[in-house]
Amino acid sequence: AAEEGFDIEEVEGAIEEAGHGPLPVLAVVGRPNVGKSTLVNRIIGRREAVVEDKPGVTRDRVTYEAEWAGRRFKVVDTGGWEQDVLGIDASVAAQAEYAIEAADAVVFVVDAKVGATDTDEAVVRLLRKAGKPVVLCANKVDGPSGEADASYLWALGLGEPHPVSALHGRGTGDMLDRVLEALPEAPAQTFGTAVGGPRRIALIGRPNVGKSSLLNKVAGEERVVVNELAGTTRDPVDELIELGGVTWKFVDTAGIRKRVHLQQGADYYASLRTAAAVEKAEVAVILIDASESISVQDQRIVTMAVEAGRAIVVAYNKWDTLDEERRYYLEREIETELGQVAWAPRVNVSAQTGRHMEKLVPAIETALAGWETRVPTGRLNAFLGELVAAHPHPVRGGKQPRILFGTQAGTKPPRFVLFASGFIEAGYRRFIERRLREEFAFEGTPIHISVRVRE
Ligand code: GDP
Ligand code: GDP
Repeated sequence: AAEEGFDIEEVEGAIEEAGHGPLPVLAVVGRPNVGKSTLVNRIIGRREAVVEDKPGVTRDRVTYEAEWAGRRFKVVDTGGWEQDVLGIDASVAAQAEYAIEAADAVVFVVDAKVGATDTDEAVVRLLRKAGKPVVLCANKVDGPSGEADASYLWALGLGEPHPVSALHGRGTGDMLDRVLEALPEAPAQTFGTAVGGPRRIALIGRPNVGKSSLLNKVAGEERVVVNELAGTTRDPVDELIELGGVTWKFVDTAGIRKRVHLQQGADYYASLRTAAAVEKAEVAVILIDASESISVQDQRIVTMAVEAGRAIVVAYNKWDTLDEERRYYLEREIETELGQVAWAPRVNVSAQTGRHMEKLVPAIETALAGWETRVPTGRLNAFLGELVAAHPHPVRGGKQPRILFGTQAGTKPPRFVLFASGFIEAGYRRFIERRLREEFAFEGTPIHISVRVRE
């Protein structure tokens, strides 16, 4: 590396930064208007439009990446719900429950000026049941005079209330220090303890694509165990299902089987649920209703899974209903609308007739294999050397930037760092990604490529 103009520390730093595995998840929960979204904004450190002035606005995005004291994690914001759909207690409980399920730690936000309400108490009960680490945030303590309000929240029995002003930033640093203590390095429930255990599948897709039908079909008589969460009375969330001689864990199936039917707000709950399921899974099977036009909602779900960095299989369901004309248009739509997962294994299924159910497992295995692939550095650089020699980067301003060397910094999904002598254009990056995929069979997985340029 040294002779190429990068010093070792720089290279090691870049590899470490790029090489992180799946990030632990922090959920921010609490009643409406306590300041959850304001706090999330503060945590992610930018003014992304999380706080909406208009009440009841449905947000697409519920998961954000954040960093504090050099550690990275994900934040799930639950602020985007609609108050009048289910009644306040049920709504708060439902959204908190989804978020807590997917989280490794929880920030419970209470409005210190208002104090603990019955709804807050209801969330406390959920938190107790879930048994996840909780950091209690006493928000809206904008100055020293509010500290007394915060201390009343000891009564919630969740330990020390952290007085915070999400709006002005007061106390948020101390609170985040506490959060980092509570958060595991890696998302324990998904990856830590699951090593060697059943692989985790999230079955996702917009309402009515056939998730529940597919689950019933694959579960059939193959269902081996219903996995009750120890010590709780709630519905089973995850199910162990045997397919192709192997036991798989389908996560968050309660949300699939027993859907809350809502008039409005359903989209928001659906996307929160989807985000939660994706966070808990290693592989996402995205179901698309092939009988209907591919929609923006389908694309959002795909984006969610890609951004979460999960292995992906796309299943086109209701194949039994397709005539020749629809099949023709479907192929065109897939090309134009789902280009972002052109690399994902595809199966054309019918949850109704059982068509091609046997193809699901091989597709999932392919995607997981790609997700976990590690390319030895020697092989990678032999490949990069040949590639760059055969297809050099275009000359710009009399200079020709070159990829000097590269390394794979991580897996699940594969992450690469390339070191270059000058700015590498987006088109060339895409070209490299395409060739990497071909060469090393990265089927069914997003891959991340970051480029370091020699100063
Ligand atoms: P959410 O519904 O829990 O996501 O709450 P929001 O983040 O949307 O905040 C609700 C209202 O409380 C907004 O008007 C915020 O500006 C205000 N707010 C949030 N945090 C603070 C704070 O620390 N101090 C004060 N004074 N107001 C706050
Ligand atoms: P979910 O909302 O994604 O769980 O979708 P459901 O499983 O409830 O299915 C929605 C509707 O599509 C139901 O009426 C199903 O019977 C129907 N459906 C699901 N899969 C298929 C399929 O493969 N073929 C046909 N023709 N109908 C299906």
